[in-house]
Amino acid sequence: MDHKQLVQITKRGTLSREEFAEVENTLYEFIWGRLFPPQILTDDLSNTVSENVITDPAAPKPDCKTCGACCAAFVVVDAENSSITSEKLWAVDSISDNGERATKSILRRREPDFACAGLAGEVGDEVSCTVYDNRPSMCRKFEAGSDRCHAVRRAYGIEPFLTTDEMLEANRKLTED
Ligand code: SF4
Ligand code: SF4
Repeated sequence: MDHKQLVQITKRGTLSREEFAEVENTLYEFIWGRLFPPQILTDDLSNTVSENVITDPAAPKPDCKTCGACCAAFVVVDAENSSITSEKLWAVDSISDNGERATKSILRRREPDFACAGLAGEVGDEVSCTVYDNRPSMCRKFEAGSDRCHAVRRAYGIEPFLTTDEMLEANRKLTED
């Protein structure tokens, strides 16, 4: 899928599961291909401050209103059980082996940066979540100041890279846990 097709697909309301899988891969390549390489794989990091391994839980928390990095970088924002209106969502349809149809709600992506369609403003500058009161549970659970938050902020250049010593120490702690 090329960039033009991806732009067209942001305008659609319904996708098949197969189409969505392709969209997911393309979004991942588009977004992460433009970021600084994450120094530590974000998959391994905590979403909550209380479970931090790298960042001191008592350290000052970054301000989400001048960031938005997680809303831009994490590609699949599952909106199940939220009351976000349909113009911000893709309905992803699938048919099971026994012929049953199921639909999943996923936040669409905006142009030109393919951040979450709920995000207003420019990443790293001034941002807000336009569906804040109805935001999905995964957004509610993701905490500013968590190890994963800091990692994605570094990938966007919003905060400085870890030094080599800090990175070695971080990897040591992650391996120990
Ligand atoms: S990456 Fe962290 S600081 Fe930035 S918006 Fe997300 S939670 Fe807030
Ligand atoms: S719904 Fe709001 S908080 Fe969640 S990813 Fe989108 S902009 Fe961010």
